Amino acid sequence: SGYHRVLEENRKLYNQVQDLKGSIRVYCRVRPFLSERSSYVSTVEHIEDGNITISTPSKYGKGCKSFTFNKVFGQSVTQAEVFSDMQPLIRSVLDGYNVCIFAYGQTGSGKTYTMVGPKDLTEKNQGVNYRALGDLFVLAEKRKDNFRYDIAVQMIEIYNEQVRDLLVIDGSNKRYPSVHLILFLTSCPLPVNFRSRLILNQTGLNVPDASLMPVSSTSDVIDLMNLGQRNRAVGATALNDRSSRSHSCLTVHVQGKDLTSGTILRGCMHLVDLAGSERVNKSEVTGDRLKEAQHINKSLSALGDVIASLAQKNTHVPYRNSKLTQLLQDSLGGQAKTLMFVHISPEPDALAETISTLKFAERVATVELGAAQVNK
Ligand code: ADP
Repeated sequence: SGYHRVLEENRKLYNQVQDLKGSIRVYCRVRPFLSERSSYVSTVEHIEDGNITISTPSKYGKGCKSFTFNKVFGQSVTQAEVFSDMQPLIRSVLDGYNVCIFAYGQTGSGKTYTMVGPKDLTEKNQGVNYRALGDLFVLAEKRKDNFRYDIAVQMIEIYNEQVRDLLVIDGSNKRYPSVHLILFLTSCPLPVNFRSRLILNQTGLNVPDASLMPVSSTSDVIDLMNLGQRNRAVGATALNDRSSRSHSCLTVHVQGKDLTSGTILRGCMHLVDLAGSERVNKSEVTGDRLKEAQHINKSLSALGDVIASLAQKNTHVPYRNSKLTQLLQDSLGGQAKTLMFVHISPEPDALAETISTLKFAERVATVELGAAQVNK
């Protein structure tokens, strides 16, 4: 009908404007079947452009539910294809934008695969984190006649609302050290004002006092990612498989100097692998597990609330409700660009979590498309 056509046109226009300014986009990726379970029937019925249809069989018969996102990636989409879609967003960090990318979904749905890659990492199956930094180096090199770029990274983990630095070198970090400060001021090739800004931030609420490591090549990045993963594993042995119950965040700080005008541009990108979003049956867990589950629920819903309130352009954004949103405050909202990347498993026994993940994501995705926004 005419009304729907107008709505669709408004929506397109709105999306175009959002592409130019800070925006919130939602992507969805379906994990392929793991080999040992390939005889299962997928719950994913159909994927077309930004739409995904899930079949929801019940004792009453066969049903379907459809969801709409900015993009949906099916089971056969490669790491390279996923990355190439995100490339413009990631490259905008070199132009001084702040970017946040979240991997959301239940444990086992492929969040770490997207952000880091599988355990047997090769160049071909590397995830977004490696590719993003590699690509920034390539682009910085291309622009070297006009810009000088300095790139540095931090890696942290948030577990039970406590922040842990993952780039401590001696590995002897206590279980939850008050976040360590190792600034390689003497060896650090960053220009002075970049350093002082980071020191300044160390006293602020938003940026943890985590080790800041300058990087200039993919091999630097691989070394640091390995260090971060080793440090994460050290903590994980204490509490079995903790990684799925903590958020991990790779932060990339970029400073670019325009060599002609002397203008300085600063950008920052957070690449976040969130804790598993599965609902824990509260009657079945107690003690540490219950505490973990409560912290995870609290921080994921705080993140959802912040994103929804940014999308609604509310004047009050509830950043203070969790460590995660406090830490990311500078990079969520304003001119920052946010991508929520939701992951789902195709197995029938994951159906309830799949639906709840897609509903959460749709809440984040559709708020901005409400009539009040479209008509503005
Ligand atoms: P999560 O981080 O959400 O807990 P993982 O990334 O660890 O999930 O994925 C669970 C398993 O599925 C891992 O063995 C991973 O290598 C595999 N996997 C996930 N996504 C894909 C994919 N797109 N292609 C191939 N294997 C995948």
